[in-house]
This record gives sequence, structure tokens and C-alpha cells, in this order.
Amino acid sequence: MSSRRDRAEEMRRLMDTEGDAVGEMSQLINRQTGENLGGFERYEELREEARETKVEAIENLPDLIDRLEEAISANGGQLHVAQDAADANRIIEEILDERGAEKLVKSKSMTTEELEVNDHLEPDYEVVETDLGEYVIQVADETPSHMIGPAMHKSAEDIAALFNDAFDLEEPLSDDPVELTEFARERVGEHILDADAGMTGANFVVAESGSIMLVTNEGNARKTAVTPDTHIAVTGVEKVVPTVSDLQPFTELIARTGTGQDITSYVSLLSPPVDTPIPDFEADEFRPPGERSFHLVLVDNGRMAMREDEDLRETLYCIRCGACNNACANFQSLGGHGFGGETYTGGIGTGWEAGVHEMESAGEMSELCTGCSRCVPKCPVKIDIPWINTVVQDRTNRDAKPGDFDFLVDGLTPDEEPSGLDLQKRFFGNIETFAKLGSLAPGLANAVADTSLADWLLERVAGIDERRDLPEFAGETLREWYGARGPRVDDPDGEVVLYPDLYTEYFEPERGKAAVRALEALGVRVRIPEVSESGRAPLSQGMVATAREQAERVHGALVGHVDAGRDVVVVEPSDLAMFRSDYEHLLPERSHERLAEHSYDVMEYVYGLVENGADADALAGPTGEGEGQVAYHSHCQQRTLGVETYTTAVLEELGYELRESDVECCGMAGSFGYKSEYYEVSMDVGERLQADLGDVAGEELVASGTSCRTQLDALYDRPALHPVELVAPSPGLR
Ligand code: SF4
Ligand code: SF4
Repeated sequence: MSSRRDRAEEMRRLMDTEGDAVGEMSQLINRQTGENLGGFERYEELREEARETKVEAIENLPDLIDRLEEAISANGGQLHVAQDAADANRIIEEILDERGAEKLVKSKSMTTEELEVNDHLEPDYEVVETDLGEYVIQVADETPSHMIGPAMHKSAEDIAALFNDAFDLEEPLSDDPVELTEFARERVGEHILDADAGMTGANFVVAESGSIMLVTNEGNARKTAVTPDTHIAVTGVEKVVPTVSDLQPFTELIARTGTGQDITSYVSLLSPPVDTPIPDFEADEFRPPGERSFHLVLVDNGRMAMREDEDLRETLYCIRCGACNNACANFQSLGGHGFGGETYTGGIGTGWEAGVHEMESAGEMSELCTGCSRCVPKCPVKIDIPWINTVVQDRTNRDAKPGDFDFLVDGLTPDEEPSGLDLQKRFFGNIETFAKLGSLAPGLANAVADTSLADWLLERVAGIDERRDLPEFAGETLREWYGARGPRVDDPDGEVVLYPDLYTEYFEPERGKAAVRALEALGVRVRIPEVSESGRAPLSQGMVATAREQAERVHGALVGHVDAGRDVVVVEPSDLAMFRSDYEHLLPERSHERLAEHSYDVMEYVYGLVENGADADALAGPTGEGEGQVAYHSHCQQRTLGVETYTTAVLEELGYELRESDVECCGMAGSFGYKSEYYEVSMDVGERLQADLGDVAGEELVASGTSCRTQLDALYDRPALHPVELVAPSPGLR
């Protein structure tokens, strides 16, 4: 792995050179897909169907491949199963030689990128890409930066400069996208006319009929497939589905999630070799279709092993629509080259890289996944992308060698974690231990943390960026305050457990106190038990064993309350996401379900109490003329859980006037924004939030997540409140 300094430098370089172009396009497509899916009622139903089809197809893959082989030979074609890249390239070369081919045209295929087909063939054959983006990349001699937009990192100006430099033109091209497209289209079209062979990928392959489905917006793939007499389709084994009717949900979903279109311009379903005459443009005649030759090269290259891997298996359900790239705030800042990866990039790229290439590139890439989960609702096959990244990070941690300063925290890392775990991860993954130690003498801990020597040491030793301020310990913890104050509700209508998350307990008890006052005002008695950090901190460092241990402790501490009929109310959205989603991976199914069913976001709970007859007048609203203007940023995981609407509903009901950010991520994402190698990425993402919210003078700055408030504080240099602090009666009243 690269050093923190080198990594930070690389991030900076890519944000400067490629970030603007990728950011503009990926955000545009993400908005388009959001609008399309927002009005598409059958989305969830089709996602379920698509996922179920993939689950079954991967389960029955060996059998499907046998059926596919029969169907393809019945059609007159040939199936080849390639074990790895070398095997695939050998097969492709043998086919080309057998057909006497010298020139090959290709349509876009990530699998051929994975196999490095071009590098392998180019010394002996002429290879021309026909997809516009791939053509640009080929001319530039670069690798794709996005699954469906390989040249997304290049602006029109970049492409004009590239073409003007690469081709001997009488008149230089302008940066008009239409002119550039026409230029490339004309060149590519000429190559297709005299190519000896065409190579396509395949979005789906149908076992029962030997058909392949090609989904494009340029029409180049079908020209590539049917114009030359030899067609080689190269794709991964995971693309096989049983029947033609299984294609239906995918056909409806792939363009909606990929580009925001209802359907792409071209959807071709071919059962090659196709039964159409072969055009011979030089001789100005057609040759009989019987002279056609078709070969499907199905590539394993690690996929069959992924099929046996409980955690990586889900990656094989991916239909490569690219939605997770566009939805990812860090991807929007960095682009695919910033994420890294030999072939694949972005959130799901980690799973692919780990499966088909080396763990090293996958491990580095997984660190850029903050677990925000915003890609998950956009994935048409419901892949748990953040979990795949967590697992890969865990595996990478386990391969690490002990570092120079590890002795400093000996004994502070749980035994289940590897001794080579780096100090930065140990610190953030065990933040609860440090928080407990600091809160024994909060004044002293704050004074020490505030020195420049501490900043210097933390950056050098633990990689905590000097430009970030660590949170300050509160004078008393939430539980200490509540222990001294006690409950203040007579004749309660119910009783709940308030989960004292790490930040509310040790650093920001005011929001916990506000939650207590708000719940009591609505007639609910509150208990605050002693309970462990949820496991979010270690999980975000890929420390799965520690996270599991903490999840078990939390479950043990809370389940008795749930059994006694007490709901669990959570102030911090990332902890609610643990209880509702992530614990699925950490606890037995029944334990997870029980906690998930009885855990609520605090504003969701307030909303529910008011809806069920509690007196909203007991809560606080704006107090006077001109009061109550709020600039509000919700939380990524809150949005994924679909609970942010309760916050806005309660605030509006109480008379607050809300301006809500459209930007989904604040960039801070727990420990991510503290890390010196990622600080600038985090600020770049944060600046998009600031640009969206704009001037907040005269407004209350409000955010639901701890990280979001930390980031807003850094961006606006003023503190932000939790929404429950707006609605809670003032301390004097309760
Ligand atoms: S979980 Fe968030 S950070 Fe991770 S890949 Fe998905 S969108 Fe990106
Ligand atoms: S993981 Fe899902 S969203 Fe990402 S490319 Fe694959 S199918 Fe599309």
C-alpha cells in the first residue's frame, strides 16, 4: 500500500485533473436516475425479481453453462470456457488465426478490459474500439474511469485536444461535443466496414436459447456483432440467466439505474451466428450467412471461487449498470482512477477486484467506501456494496504487518484483530476505549488534545489530519447527568430506552438531554442504560470481529428492555443503521430482527407519538417573528433507511421553515474526514454541500448526524444543532 502522504498527493492530483469532469457527469446522471426511479412504481418489485433471478442463476451456474453449451452448438456456434485471462486470450487468438483475421473491431466490454485483450492482441492484430468513450480511451492510451462511461474523466476540451494531437487534421476540431462525436463516429464506422472480426461483450446470456443481449446507446455493438463474418462475444460466467423471460426485469431496470433512461436506444437480442447475409463492402456484394462464425468466450477468472465465497458471491449479481459509481460522493470527487483498481472501480469495484485480481488494489479501494450506503437503493439487484467493502477491508487488515508504533497501543486492540492493524485503524476502531479514558479527566484530556504537539503527534503517528479538531470531551457524560437528574414525568404513557451512543454520551450530551426532554414532554419515561458503542466505529475500519463482539454486547444490554416492551430510541443515525441493517451481518437473524423492529430514530419516535395523540404543543417551536428559519442537512444512512421525512415533518408541524440540502453526503463520514490521506477528498465533498446550502446567515444550522455537524462546523465555522434540540422544551421548563 502507498504511504499516507503519497496517497493524499494522488487524491489531490486526481481531484485537480479529473474530478471536475467526473463530478459534473456523475452527479448529472445520478440526478437523472433519481428522477426516473422516483416516478417508477414497479422499481422495488422488479429489483426483487432481478435479484431472485441472479441468486438462483449463480446457485445453478454449472448446470446453466451445460445447457448454454447445448443451445449454442444447436445454433451453430461454439462455447469456450476460459479459466483465466491467459486462457481467454489464447482462445481469442486461436479463433482469429483460424479465421485469418487481421483487423478486429470491439464494442465496450469491461470483461475484455479485465483480460487486457487489447494489450495481448495489439502487437499482431489491428484492434479498434467502436464505443465512443472506449475509442477516446484507446486514443489516449488510458484505462476506463467509469463502468459505463469510460472517458467520463475527460471534458470536451480534453477530447478535442487529444484528437487534434493524435490525428493529422487539416482543420483542428473544436470542443463542440457534436463535432467530436461525428468525427469519431466516422472513423469508427470506416473501421467496422472492413473489419475481419467483431468482438462484443454481453450484458446477459440466455442458457435456453444461446442468445446474448446487448444494451447500448450508440448502436455500435450490434454493428460490431453482425457486420464482420466472425463474431466473438466475451463475457463473465455470471452473465448467464436461464430463460429469455428472465431478461424482463433487467431490461426494465438497467437503463433506469444506469443512465436514468426508461430504456437504452438499442437493446439487441441475438442468437448467433445470426441468419443474415454478410456484407462485403469492398466487393459490393453479400456472402451467405452460412459463412458466419460465432464464439462465446465465457470467462471464469476467479468467478467460480467468488461463487463459493459467502461474502464476495453477491458481487456476481452485479449487472454493471454503474449506478453505484454515480451515487457515491467520493467517486464524484475522485473518479474511477482515484478509486483505483486494475480494471474495476467505485463501490462494487472492490468486490470485483478482490475476486478477479489481487487483494492489494481492492484493499486500498475499500478505504474510500465510507459505508454511507447511498449506492444501495440505486442498485437494481440490491447488492450490499458497503458490506463487501467492509469484508475486503477486514481481509486486508489481516494481511498487514505490524507497524513501527504499534507498541503504543498494545493491549488496546481486541485479541480478535490482527497484530498488524495500523495505528490509525486501532485508534478509530477503539474510539470507545479512548473516550472512556479521556472522560475520566475531561478538562485535562481537552487541554492536552488542544496543544500543537498533540496535533503533530496525532498526524505523524495515527494519521489524524492536523487541520481537523478532535471533538471535545463534555464535563459530564449523558448518563452522569441523567443519573443526577432522574426522570421527570408523572404518570407516563410509556417507557423507552434512549441509546447513549458514543458521541452523545461523551462528547455531545446536549442532544441526548434534549431527546430526554422531548420524550418526557410527550409523556414518555426514559431509561438510559450502560451499553457498549454499537460497533459502527470498528466496522468502519474493517474490524469485523470487534464490531461483532460489540453488537453482541449491545444486543445483550438492550434485548431485556425490548422484551419488557420498551422501544429503543436512537439519536445518532449511523447507530440506527447498525441496529436496522448492519447487525444483519453481525448477529443471529432473530436477534437482529428483534432489535431492528424495535429501534427508532428519535425524530421518528417523536413523530409517532404526536401521530398517536401526544400533545405537540408541549414541544418547542419558533419563539417569535423571524425565528424558525432552518437550513437542514439530513444524514446519508437516514435517507437510505427512509426515516429523514419524520424530521422534516415534525419541524414543519411545529412551524419551522426548512431549507433542505439536496446533497446526500457531507463528506466527513465518521473517521474518514479525520484521516490525513482523505482530508481533502472529504472537504471537496463537503464543499458541494456548502455550495448547495449556500449562505446560512439568519438560519439555524441543523444536521442529524454527528459527522455532518462536525463537517458543517468546519465549513461554516459555527456549530450546528441536532433537530431534537430544536423541538425539545428548554431546560428551564423541564
Ligand atoms: S456505501 Fe457510500 S461510500 Fe461506499 S461505495 Fe456506496 S456510495 Fe460510495
Ligand atoms: S453493484 Fe449494482 S449499482 Fe453497482 S454496477 Fe453493479 S448492478 Fe449496478
